Amino acid sequence: MSSLSSPPYTGRFAPSPTGELHQGSLFTALASYLDARHCDGRWLVRMEDLDPPREQPGAASAILCALEAHQLYWDGEVMYQSQRLAAYSEALAQLTRAGHTYPCSCSRQRLKGLSAYDGHCRQHPPGNKTCALRLRIPAGEAGLEHYRDLWRGEQRQQLQTYPGDFVIKRKDGLYAYQLAVVVDDIAQGISHIIRGGDLLDSALRQRLLFRLLGANAPVMGHLPILVNGAGQKLSKQSFATPLDNKRAAANMEQALGQLGLPLPAELHGAPCDEQLQWASAHWRRARLPTAAHIQVGTA
Ligand code: GLU
Ligand code: ZN
Repeated sequence: MSSLSSPPYTGRFAPSPTGELHQGSLFTALASYLDARHCDGRWLVRMEDLDPPREQPGAASAILCALEAHQLYWDGEVMYQSQRLAAYSEALAQLTRAGHTYPCSCSRQRLKGLSAYDGHCRQHPPGNKTCALRLRIPAGEAGLEHYRDLWRGEQRQQLQTYPGDFVIKRKDGLYAYQLAVVVDDIAQGISHIIRGGDLLDSALRQRLLFRLLGANAPVMGHLPILVNGAGQKLSKQSFATPLDNKRAAANMEQALGQLGLPLPAELHGAPCDEQLQWASAHWRRARLPTAAHIQVGTA
């Protein structure tokens, strides 16, 4: 069957260099890689180095090293968000020209306890103070977003109710993750976003941004979150151990098992490239565990 009508598949892995990769990030990288390769798609890597205070020196190169050690080779050049400020500024100008932004000077103190932004600075323009910029969520139907997630099913939210007008440029002058990620997904022609379940909460507001920037939102799939024995998400904050590149094949075998693709006995102990070849052919979205959380290990 011809696939002329559907756009070519382009997926991506978009780590933030706040620390080294751990088993949870390998799980995410691998799922996006396999979904792309199974669909004969491209797989890109984007380094989300947008927030210098949160970054760890050397983490970006350590992440790329770990991907290579696991033979997760990406297509094209790595994109660095730190090099993309002009594009973010242009997108922001476009939104502002269309009346979709406004300045907000609300203090952390004022925002504390609000589950959704209450639109205070829409009514009370802050004047010349140092401000963040918020996206003005369109009223009524236009502020309602919905899509069917590959694993989490139908997602629907009136964005004025939650999260309310959200920040797209921070008070400290940094572009917000929500804006940068959408501008880059558009620029890179991303057709499929496969990523960690912790970002499900961002999906609908990002889809609104795609729309306001005149682009089609990609297909989205949010994976289960790997948690430790104490129920905490594996992350640098929960002291997840960095991947040991010398154990790449074993790490990958473990991640495949977590993705519902246990290696057949004859591939046990096989190098990463052989595992990847087998897994790309056998990847089925429906095999992924449907739980929102998967517990791994005990610590
Ligand atoms: N940089 C984000 C993170 O590491 C991921 C962004 C995304 O996949 O949209 O959590
Ligand atoms: Zn405000």
